[in-house]
Amino acid sequence: MTSLLLPLLLLAVPSPSPEDAAAVIGQALTDGLAYQRLTELTDTIGPRPAGSAGAAQAVDWARKRLAAEGFVVHTEPVKVPHWVRGVETGELVLPSGHVAPLALTALGGSAPTPAGGITAPVLEVTSFEQLHALGDRAKGKIIFFNHPMAVAHDYGVYGALRFRGAAEASRAGAAAMVMRSLSTASLRSPHTGMTFIPPGVAPLPAAALSVEDAGALHRALAQGPAQLHLTLGCQTLPEVESANVVAELKGSALPKEVVLLGAHLDSWDLATGAQDDGAGVAMVMETARVLAHLRPRRTVRLVLFMNEEFGLDGGKAYAKAHATDHHVAALEADSGAGRPMGVALRAGPGAEALLAPWLAPLATLGSETVVEGEAGGADLEPLAAQHVPMLSIHQDGTHYFDVHHSAADTLDKVDPQALASSAGALAWLTYALAEAPFTLPAAVDKAEAH
Ligand SMILES: [Zn+2]
Repeated sequence: MTSLLLPLLLLAVPSPSPEDAAAVIGQALTDGLAYQRLTELTDTIGPRPAGSAGAAQAVDWARKRLAAEGFVVHTEPVKVPHWVRGVETGELVLPSGHVAPLALTALGGSAPTPAGGITAPVLEVTSFEQLHALGDRAKGKIIFFNHPMAVAHDYGVYGALRFRGAAEASRAGAAAMVMRSLSTASLRSPHTGMTFIPPGVAPLPAAALSVEDAGALHRALAQGPAQLHLTLGCQTLPEVESANVVAELKGSALPKEVVLLGAHLDSWDLATGAQDDGAGVAMVMETARVLAHLRPRRTVRLVLFMNEEFGLDGGKAYAKAHATDHHVAALEADSGAGRPMGVALRAGPGAEALLAPWLAPLATLGSETVVEGEAGGADLEPLAAQHVPMLSIHQDGTHYFDVHHSAADTLDKVDPQALASSAGALAWLTYALAEAPFTLPAAVDKAEAH
């Protein structure tokens, strides 16, 4: 079509009804359901690492809760790894004989040390380039990745040190790897997360130090040589049959067109995962309650993915099982419990203009504009590769990485009103995508956001 026709067509596109918008957002802001569900999940089920009893209980709980909202619910099988932490201690040992205990925690996927632990000299680096430059000097040493993380955005930049650090240190012949926690604040809580050892690379003990202890180790190394004594008792148990929870509200007019909304049920084991990703699960449940009575034109499918944290098994299993489904848009809530600040969008040219009138009702929450940010989520990456338009509520993440993957990720850090606001924004955005008279143009390329 010519560019002259486009504005005329846009004028002809009906806008959403203000009454519907007020009902959707108003209910989420006032019924308190998201916080109630989050309280249940964190206080009565607790930590939900892949393969654990908590994860299995969460599947059961979510299935019942979503069915009670009037959605048709089933589970889909997902095979997950089962890694468990054990004893974990560390000490800094100085040539003077001074020994200082360190606050540390094993990274998910870490190998154990021998029962009595290992003691080895430490070499500090800030990057893989510095590690590689050590050459043979890395052999038998404990490699210390020490890079500060100042703001939330840095997670995307330095996350690779955790994800690939153990494998790179193993390839270099190191005895173990420790790293400064990926965190924007610290009260001496170490932050875990997955480290990936590819097949053919020797497993390696790997742990995160609290920010304070990374600082102490750095100062010690500035004075001269230092050793660490590290004891990790983690184990990899046999794989476990787990599940994604899939809940559907059939579209009233276009049932084959699917709007997918996801969050992940699993958490790390150190805490109850209130923000990662209990908040997302709670927001999905609020969306279910709000949309159940509205019956939008397209099918709304809610998926609570299993094992985002330790291999994305749920996201991969879903993509495989639903390869031929017609997903017209996909959203994921996996950014904590902060207030909504806008909508992140990854779709083809013209998507933002099409969507604008449908985002207008979000002005009451201060989140009606399309902003830079991650659209979709890790569980949706296989769908993103198929160019399905991706969206997210962009939430305030200022303090998300203060607690992320640490023992401090608990309910008390969640502001109920901020959570309710984000749940309202998510419910409205999901409704808009399921009800609007258009579908968004397919994303052109991952690199070309909207
Ligand atoms: Zn998450």
